Amino acid sequence: HAKQEGKNTYKFFQKSYMKKSIERLILASDLRKAIENDELLLYYQPKFSCKTEKVNGFEALIRWDHPKHGMISPNCFIPLAEETGMIVHIDQWVLYQACLQLKEWQAQGLKPVKIAVNLSMLQFQQKNFLNIVRSILKETGIDPSYLEIELTERVIMDDPEIALKNIKRLKSIGVQISMDDFGVHYSSLSYLKLLPLDRLKIDRSFLQDMLANKDDQTIVKAMIQLAHNLEMTVVAEGVETIEQYNFLKSNHCDEVQGFYFDKPLPATNIIKYIS
Ligand code: C2E
Ligand code: MG
Ligand code: MG
Ligand code: MG
Repeated sequence: HAKQEGKNTYKFFQKSYMKKSIERLILASDLRKAIENDELLLYYQPKFSCKTEKVNGFEALIRWDHPKHGMISPNCFIPLAEETGMIVHIDQWVLYQACLQLKEWQAQGLKPVKIAVNLSMLQFQQKNFLNIVRSILKETGIDPSYLEIELTERVIMDDPEIALKNIKRLKSIGVQISMDDFGVHYSSLSYLKLLPLDRLKIDRSFLQDMLANKDDQTIVKAMIQLAHNLEMTVVAEGVETIEQYNFLKSNHCDEVQGFYFDKPLPATNIIKYIS
């Protein structure tokens, strides 16, 4: 009897596994077509200075407007894009698109703001990575100091030597670098002092229970101090309430980003922040 049950369970797993892998194959082939079909787009989420309470930049966040499934979040397709290598192509498109958008805002005479782009590990480790960035900056005519690249700890820890080399090169052409999702994956504290980073982004998981949890408060305060001591500025992401904002502001956090201020929005909806 037990054996029979085991068999059924196995069959069930096999079936659902098959279904999942077929779905993934379909999704992967859809994704391959998505760029050509203009289904990928960028949303922009404002970042506010705690000092002036004004927008000083946006983070570009990719969306996939799938013809059948509607808007798909990057958490659903970025991992797939990374596994298949498509991310290299996608991230290049994102970088180009974000710079193009910035150029357009500048041409319209809107207020100058920075734009931050997320790059995956694979993109960052491409041999011609620096040339790609340079040629995109040149083609779009963007001043490199307006571009910020967000890297996660994973990118840095996977190959610290390449990371250091590429970060230094990016800095030398004037691009700014942020460490995204700080504190969630690794404790790369020893690398922090080696890397010439401009900004730390405190992951939103530290903010979630911060107001009720003294330990989280201590960690957040320590991260802000650490960043400042290493001459970096700090952004807190995932700020959802005024109480969280007040805590961050009174503890000298430099910038905030989150639903309390605004969600990521299509380009046309963010003009109000820069006119
Ligand atoms: P991330 O870079 O840490 O981006 C922040 C994520 O938090 C965004 O999710 C944003 O919509 C969300 N968020 C912002 N404020 C709040 C808030 O107050 N509450 C909550 N619950 N969430 C908030 P999104 O857009 O779904 O992106 C998820 C992740 O996908 C990003 O995390 C980033 O790692 C990755 N990603 C997005 N766009 C790109 C891209 O163009 N290239 C690459 N390689 N990765 C990307
Ligand atoms: Mg980011
Ligand atoms: Mg983040
Ligand atoms: Mg994240």
